[in-house]
Amino acid sequence: MRRPSTRESDGPCGNEDVQAAEESTLCQVSDHVSCGACCGLYNVPFASRNTLVQVLKARTRQFETTPRTVDAIFEFKRQVETREGKERPMPDFHHCPFLGLMGPEHTTVGCLLHPQASGNHGLDFRSVSYYGGMTCHIYFCPSTRLLPQRYKQIVRSVLDDWYLYGLIVTETKLLQAFFEELEDRMNRPLYAEDFTTHRACREALKFLFLLRVSWPFRAPDNHRVANYFFNDHLYARPPLLSPSKGQSISRYRLILQELETDPISNHTLRQAELYLDDRFKLVQDALETA
Ligand code: SF4
Ligand code: SF4
Repeated sequence: MRRPSTRESDGPCGNEDVQAAEESTLCQVSDHVSCGACCGLYNVPFASRNTLVQVLKARTRQFETTPRTVDAIFEFKRQVETREGKERPMPDFHHCPFLGLMGPEHTTVGCLLHPQASGNHGLDFRSVSYYGGMTCHIYFCPSTRLLPQRYKQIVRSVLDDWYLYGLIVTETKLLQAFFEELEDRMNRPLYAEDFTTHRACREALKFLFLLRVSWPFRAPDNHRVANYFFNDHLYARPPLLSPSKGQSISRYRLILQELETDPISNHTLRQAELYLDDRFKLVQDALETA
C-alpha cells in the first residue's frame, strides 16, 4: 500500500516520520523496482509478469483520461472489475483495481490514486479505495518491521525488476532463513556491499531468490503466486509434514515449507534439499572468490 517515494513529506518530520520513511524504503526502491504486494498485486488467477504488465498498462492508460472526481473514479473501478473479473485465488485478500504502472516509461508498479502519481497534481484520492486512505497510508508489511536492516538493504540492492522483488520482499521467514544459511556458511554477517560490488555474487543471490517463482517441488496443482502475510493468517501456508513416520526433515525445513514444497515422498524431499544445497553453494562460492 505504500506508493510514495517521499513518504516523509506526508507529515511533519518527527521521529515517527523518520522511522516510517526508513520502513517505506522497501516499497519504492528505484525506477524499476517497487512493490504492490500488500495491495493484492499477485492475487489474480494469472499472475505471470507478462499478464500483470498487460493488465496494469491498460488500467494506467484508462486512468490517464479519467477525470479526478469521485464518480469518475468509481466508474473506472467498475469498468476495470467488469473487464478483468473478480476471481481471486485468495477470495478475502483484496486485489486493488487502482494498482497501475508508474514513471514515464511505466517501469514500476504503484498506486494510481497516490498524490505523487501522474495526473493527480499532489491530491490524494486513496480515500475512495477499499481500505481507505488512512490504511493505505500507514500499513507496512512484516518484512519492513522484522527483517534486519542489512537484509533489507541486500534485497533492495540485488533485484532490478519489480515482479520478483514484490514476490520475495514480503517473504520475511524465507529471506531470514536464506540469509542465516548463507551467513552460517560464510561464518560472518552479510551486507549489501558484498553484492553491490561483485556482479557474480549479485547474480548468484538473484538465482537463489528466483526459487520463489520456479521452485520445482511444489504440488503441480498449486498455482497460488501471492503470499498472504497479514496478521489474521487467513491463508497461512500449511505446515510441512514428514511424508512417513520416523523420517525427519532436514535443517531446511522452514525453507521447504515457505516454498510450499509438496512432501510426496522422502526421496523428493532429499532431492529438494540437494537442489537448495546447489543454489546456496553458488552464492557461497561467489562470495568466497569475490
Ligand atoms: S488505493 Fe489500492 S493501490 Fe493504492 S495504496 Fe490503497 S490498496 Fe494500494
Ligand atoms: S508489501 Fe511491504 S514492501 Fe510491499 S508495498 Fe506493501 S508495505 Fe511496502
